[in-house]
Amino acid sequence: MDKEKCIFCKIVNRESPSHIVYEDNEHIAFLDIAPFSIGHTLVCPKRHGETLWDMTEEEIGKLFMVASRISKAVVKAVGAQGFRLIQNNGEAANQVVAHVHIHVIPVRMEDRGKFLDRKKFTEEEMLKTADIIKQAITNSDSIVEEQRK
Ligand code: 5GP
Ligand code: ZN
Repeated sequence: MDKEKCIFCKIVNRESPSHIVYEDNEHIAFLDIAPFSIGHTLVCPKRHGETLWDMTEEEIGKLFMVASRISKAVVKAVGAQGFRLIQNNGEAANQVVAHVHIHVIPVRMEDRGKFLDRKKFTEEEMLKTADIIKQAITNSDSIVEEQRK
């Protein structure tokens, strides 16, 4: 896949709109456009690569560390009780967007054992959800800062 045409590279470069919840020099996280649950977030490396095999082991480690950190903020922000991390590689694995990403999908007790369908939320709901996740990430950053002191 040509990175000039890659939708996630366009999101990184602000050429396509999205609801960004987190960004650092190497990673970006934004709400999935067709979420399985409210708060479904995608965590990506900014550098284009199609699958995990296009990344160094250090980059893979950092990506999962960021996803783990974001999962805590997402679960807290939407009041879920658990979460799934899903990471598809290749067409056979149903990878639709050929830019590495980790799905962070918050789940509730009432959804236990259920097959989750894609949902559609209003722009207002997406904006509000992105805001509370951003806030939860900021709060967790400050907790980390506190612990370092
Ligand atoms: P995959 O099947 O490749 O692991 O998942 C790709 C995900 O990207 C899907 O859940 C899909 O809804 C999401 N997606 C596809 N295009 C866009 C887009 O333009 N913006 C956002 N925010 N998500 C997208
Ligand atoms: Zn890309």
